[in-house]
Amino acid sequence: FLALCKNGIEFNPEEKKDYSRSWDHSILEFSRLISRIIKCDKHATRDTLSLNEAQQLIRKLSRPIGEISTLIQENLQLAEQHKNNVISNRAPTPQVLPQEDAEIVPLGYPRTVCTNEKCTKVITIDNIGKVDYTSHCHPHCYLTGVEQETIGHEKLKDCTAMDKSLDTYNKCGCMRKEHMYITYEVRKFITNIVTNSKNITQSPIDGIEQLIKDLKEEQEAIIKVCTQLGQFLRANALSPVNDNILEYIEDFIREEKTKRSAEVQNDGVIVGLEKLLVDYKNEMNILQQQFIRFY
Ligand SMILES: [Zn+2]
Ligand SMILES: [Zn+2]
Repeated sequence: FLALCKNGIEFNPEEKKDYSRSWDHSILEFSRLISRIIKCDKHATRDTLSLNEAQQLIRKLSRPIGEISTLIQENLQLAEQHKNNVISNRAPTPQVLPQEDAEIVPLGYPRTVCTNEKCTKVITIDNIGKVDYTSHCHPHCYLTGVEQETIGHEKLKDCTAMDKSLDTYNKCGCMRKEHMYITYEVRKFITNIVTNSKNITQSPIDGIEQLIKDLKEEQEAIIKVCTQLGQFLRANALSPVNDNILEYIEDFIREEKTKRSAEVQNDGVIVGLEKLLVDYKNEMNILQQQFIRFY
């Protein structure tokens, strides 16, 4: 209407009234739209974003959880061995219990390593067997968007160290899905725990038993938290039943078996981890059934 006026086109008063009413109506509708937008829940997008962040965080936790679980199982085995030594009088210092501790060594940048058995080596440092990833297929990977501490991430397809057509890494020739994108390494070492430092009346065996109980409780607590996290992801339909933690524990069992074939004594650890896997699956199923019942 304004443009037409400017071009010298005349309107009769009736038409002018029409246009002005239409203008008023537009203004009204526009203000209504704006006020509606203002009233809209501003957190909607942010909530979705933070759910995605939560999902990524939970997935990132899988490797540390698997590592802690392995450490607990190794310490359980050490404690059982020590207990047997004390019982059979083969322990020179019954109250001193050797346990493993771990230290995180950050790389400072992401690295892609191969987890295939042929690309790993079992090394022994301080009497602790460790699977060493010898094939650093991309020692310093600059890719963006790859989730850290995951195995076989989709985004690795874009890595310059890969043969895209075969979906394998050039260096070792193994498949992408066997490659792990890591930002830290774990260094394990033995520390000696004095079992009855506080309670002098406690016998060494009781001290060891107490420690075994504590370790088992810790493991149970971890399983509980893991299943709740997994369930949280399912409840929010974030991932199509993606059980990263299960995959990691399976991976650690495979590593332990590699170590055993290199004559590391770790039967207790393997049995422990396998039991853990069963417990975890059971816990997941129970929660899943409750979930179906409630929704
Ligand atoms: Zn790369
Ligand atoms: Zn390989």
